[in-house]
Amino acid sequence: MDKCSVSSLALFSGEAMFDKPRSTSNLVRPDFEQYLMYSRMFFGQDQSITEDSLTRKLEKRLTTFHQASECVAVSSGFWALVLAIRCLAVPGKTEIVMPSLTYRRMADVAAWTGLIPHFCEVDPNTLAISAVTAKSVINENTALILGVQPIINCCDVDGLVALAAAKQLPLLFDSVESTYETYAGKKIGSFGNAEVFSLHASKLINGFEGGYITTNDPVLAARLRRMRAFGIKGKDGVQELGMNAMLNPIHAAMTMANLDFLDEQVKHNYSIYKAYQNGVDDTLGLRLLAFDETEKCSYKNIVVELLDHWPLSRSDTLAILHAERIVARPYYSPALHQKKMSYPVIAGNLQQTEKLAERYMLLPCGYFVQESDVDAVIELLRFIKNNAETIQKRLA
Ligand SMILES: *Cc1c(COP(=O)(O)O)cnc(C)c1O
Repeated sequence: MDKCSVSSLALFSGEAMFDKPRSTSNLVRPDFEQYLMYSRMFFGQDQSITEDSLTRKLEKRLTTFHQASECVAVSSGFWALVLAIRCLAVPGKTEIVMPSLTYRRMADVAAWTGLIPHFCEVDPNTLAISAVTAKSVINENTALILGVQPIINCCDVDGLVALAAAKQLPLLFDSVESTYETYAGKKIGSFGNAEVFSLHASKLINGFEGGYITTNDPVLAARLRRMRAFGIKGKDGVQELGMNAMLNPIHAAMTMANLDFLDEQVKHNYSIYKAYQNGVDDTLGLRLLAFDETEKCSYKNIVVELLDHWPLSRSDTLAILHAERIVARPYYSPALHQKKMSYPVIAGNLQQTEKLAERYMLLPCGYFVQESDVDAVIELLRFIKNNAETIQKRLA
């Protein structure tokens, strides 16, 4: 890094550290020949999902990967959530229990199902919904509990499973951020009634776009498959509400090629995580959220907490980083209940969430980030910390 003075920061018209943005999205690309090899498999086929279609092959592969008994591939994680909620929600009930500190579009998902999001707090240790936080908003209108996995490690899976059983409520996991993870040594993918994953380019497994649902419930899987493909039920069956949300084979080919390469990618992620771990300590004013190395982890996301002795506001910090083409992002901030929505939501007092929504940011990670980039990012953060007073004066 060659920032010798505050004036050399790109925010103050110095030269940016990176020419290409360093992003928090994965954007991993597989070997192109491998992608073509899978593409050749579907190019000659008709497009229906038969037992030997590529999408069906992918479903079987993901079933094994997650150690679940069923997998239903869908056009995106978003529509996979909508579909699963439509199938699982208790008929006649109106509310979905979900955290507010979560994926930006999660309340929209609820709105598309015709249900009302009822936001709960998150546990400050996992930054995720827990049995305790979910329980406090469950009431006679609750239709479903949505257990959203956090960005680092997993949520209180056992607690939520026990709570759902005690309250006799369906439990759906959004496990998009825990695709590679294990919980108490068991692969994520067969907890609760079903689990939802994404194949969006920014996520661990890039299928360009796409998503899928895993479950151990064959009746649910059959219903998801019908609804995904227009809700058609054989000749004399009653027409069921359906949509057109199948995963197309182009995305299946991309996903297959990236799966071939996944373990290698996780190794790369691990080296990036270790580089951050080497450089981020208390003297920097930041705390790196640690992966639980006793479990399987993707090591993809890098999240730091801005401690009380970090000298700048998060928005000023992000402005400095962005000018250097370091595309750091606030962690799920603002929280969902803090945004204006065009549809009804229910939110009580969510003080904890509001506090936590201010404190974290994501730093560059994934396939295109190298260890030397990490060292440069950390050097810059240390420079910011050591020159905070001068920076603040210039910002004012
Ligand atoms: C990205 C994401 C989704 C939606 O997945 P898409 O495939 O992009 O529609 C859902 N939940 C979480 C937690 C996500 O990060």
